Amino acid sequence: MDEIFGGIISSPEAESIRELKTPCYVIDEKKLEANGKLLASVISHTGCRILLAQKAFSNYDFYPLLEEYISGTEASGLFEARLGKEEMPGKEVHVFCAAYRDDEFDELLTYADHIVFNSIHQLKRYGRYAKQKGKHIGLRINPECSTQEDHAIYDPCAKGSRLGVTRSVWDKEITDDVFELLDGLHFHTLCEQDSDALEVTFKAVEEKFGDVLSLMKWLNMGGGHHITKADYDIARLEKLLLYVKEKWGLQVYLEPGEAVALNAGYLVTRVLDIVENNGIKIAILDSSAACHMPDVIEMPYTPPLLGADKGDSKPYCYRLGGPTCLSGDVIGDYSFDKELSVGDLLVFGDMAIYTTCKNNTFNGMPLPDIYRLCKDGRTEKLTDFGYGDFKHRLGS
Ligand SMILES: *Cc1c(COP(=O)(O)O)cnc(C)c1O
Repeated sequence: MDEIFGGIISSPEAESIRELKTPCYVIDEKKLEANGKLLASVISHTGCRILLAQKAFSNYDFYPLLEEYISGTEASGLFEARLGKEEMPGKEVHVFCAAYRDDEFDELLTYADHIVFNSIHQLKRYGRYAKQKGKHIGLRINPECSTQEDHAIYDPCAKGSRLGVTRSVWDKEITDDVFELLDGLHFHTLCEQDSDALEVTFKAVEEKFGDVLSLMKWLNMGGGHHITKADYDIARLEKLLLYVKEKWGLQVYLEPGEAVALNAGYLVTRVLDIVENNGIKIAILDSSAACHMPDVIEMPYTPPLLGADKGDSKPYCYRLGGPTCLSGDVIGDYSFDKELSVGDLLVFGDMAIYTTCKNNTFNGMPLPDIYRLCKDGRTEKLTDFGYGDFKHRLGS
């Protein structure tokens, strides 16, 4: 048995990771803290507030660490709102949901500080009631400004999108009695993008909604800001945030998911078998793209693998796939400096986001345990899973 990942994670960490039962996720406290510090510096330079979008990362054991740096949490609905309220107490809880429901709304109000509606119908249905309960009321607008073509399913500005109110619908449906309820506007249009795309988007917002912008208290610019990525243009972001604050008198919110936990986790896995088909060597791993890293298939993307290259630049090429029966359960094609063998340990990078909160037990696959990689290099088990977690979702 041989470890392939050496040299990337420094040695004390590598030692403790080597002993873990695979597959497992390892969340890197040091990296999460570095991301938090960077976000905190944007907050202190610009006066903006930054929320964790929990749909990307909701491993609440790390909320005590994150709350030192950020302003609160963003939720997609009841459960995430409750998690944010319970696990980051005293911090802001913002909710955006494409449609709220009567049987949850009262409970939701016990957790949320900001409620953002997706339509003027929903604002009319719930807005006054939420306002009476002391909540901040927002409406999601759709600036109809697509700034990326790479990930069509993540483009809320595409024609026919159900997300956000376009200016023409606003003009048709808005009435004074609900307009006066609004404290702020919200847009979310970016995905893994830089601050130049935010600039373009904000221009579109000014053009389409400039007449109402100055009547608001706050503007929530959603997520998709890749702030903690190495080449992200932070100066440009900060300049824009200061401009929005000064020109429009708005409190700005950002609610990144990815950026909070970018590159802050690993999926540790082992090679179970190596097969061959038409000259292609395929390593079958004990973790599955479909179950344990579903965005690899859904987005799609090829995750980094420590110590290996994507593609065929190194001498030994393998396609890496999962143990399920799905033909497309393939993580990608990678190359290595040496041949792979059964039992080799492989470590995928950037596995904290859209993984632990999105995985599943398709094919009866076990869910990977989750570990904390402490600052001193020790690993600590946070939770584990077994047969019961598969069975209890399915019946009595
Ligand atoms: C998904 C989402 C986010 C977070 O997006 P990231 O790409 O993870 O930064 C923030 N706000 C809303 C409304 C979202 O739907």
